[in-house]
Amino acid sequence: MSEQSLARPPYDVVIIGGGPAGLTAGMYASRASLRTLAIAGASTVSQVTATDLIENYPGIPEGINGFDLAERFKAQALQFGLETADGDVTGLTRQSWGDLAGWEVAAGQQRYGALSVIIATGANWRRLGVAGEERFIGKGVSFCATCDGPFYRDREVAVVGGGDTAIQEAIYLTRFAKKVTVVHRRDRLRATAILQKRALENPKIAFAWNSVVDAIDGLDLLQWVRLKDVTTGAARQLNVDGVFIFVGLTPNTAAFQGLIALDNAGYVTVDANMQTSLPGVFACGDCTAKRFRQVVTACGDGATAAFSAQLYCEEMKGEAY
Ligand SMILES: Cc1cc2nc3c(=O)[nH]c(=O)nc-3n(C[C@H](O)[C@H](O)[C@H](O)COP(=O)(O)OP(=O)(O)OC[C@H]3O[C@@H](n4cnc5c(N)ncnc54)[C@H](O)[C@@H]3O)c2cc1C
Repeated sequence: MSEQSLARPPYDVVIIGGGPAGLTAGMYASRASLRTLAIAGASTVSQVTATDLIENYPGIPEGINGFDLAERFKAQALQFGLETADGDVTGLTRQSWGDLAGWEVAAGQQRYGALSVIIATGANWRRLGVAGEERFIGKGVSFCATCDGPFYRDREVAVVGGGDTAIQEAIYLTRFAKKVTVVHRRDRLRATAILQKRALENPKIAFAWNSVVDAIDGLDLLQWVRLKDVTTGAARQLNVDGVFIFVGLTPNTAAFQGLIALDNAGYVTVDANMQTSLPGVFACGDCTAKRFRQVVTACGDGATAAFSAQLYCEEMKGEAY
């Protein structure tokens, strides 16, 4: 029987993404008795699995490994009946089942029909693409000062980047590190004036101007980065225990370009209820346009998106009060 001949789509909610945002949405939606499927990427993983220790998630004062936290989110959602699948979603198309309109979600050869969709595809920290970078992620290479800064108490670290995020995070890292070297490819910062002033006046911050990191190395843990002067080509070694890379984030939203409203950087624009520009399509977590990207904010967004999807489905099915 084709989906078109069904009176209702197979799912009330299809969630795209299996990270904290998607799994929290999955828990709320399935607990609200909505038939819910969460599709986790086949060729990507949740960012949370990249970190050894999460110590800022409320209720777990002893801290938890990121992978273990993701597994706990999943177990909790599954106990309320969440269904799961793996696959890289490549697009959405409008679909109807009798009087009901919804969406068909394409993932590889699979097609999933749903009244509502929640996009929770996260973002990826933009990489430098230099030797050693991937190998030392979690062992000295970090993309998150809030997360990993406290591990570098009285150590020396480098920060790569010259924009607001890089400078704000460099200043934050001086709470822990004894020295922070900002490596920037230009001879002046791009960050706003107030941040520049604070960084330039901070005695713990040094600058490697006109420089890029072109290699990262060490034994088991990161020990040094190689800096290349972009004006002279000269190379030098900078001994550090950590390197924080802030050269931008790339949202995982390519599948929705041209279909849904995105901001200039490619993040999905949502209102306070996580509603996107399309009917019945909600978004949550790191793929949305917002200021603070953390596990706890992703979970909060996921709960809100699920509740909005619930209200939408009830309205569509004529079950609303
Ligand atoms: C190294 C590191 C350390 C961090 N440490 C901390 C910390 O200590 N504390 C903290 O609060 N935050 C930390 N963060 C940030 C935190 O991991 C993110 O804010 C959080 O994971 C965002 O959740 P999310 O569900 O929105 O996205 P993600 O966790 O990135 O999950 C996205 C999901 O979408 C899937 N996906 C992507 N594209 C597709 C597609 N086309 N089709 C189907 N599925 C798709 C992926 O496979 C994944 O399952 C850290 C991040 C990094 C990288």
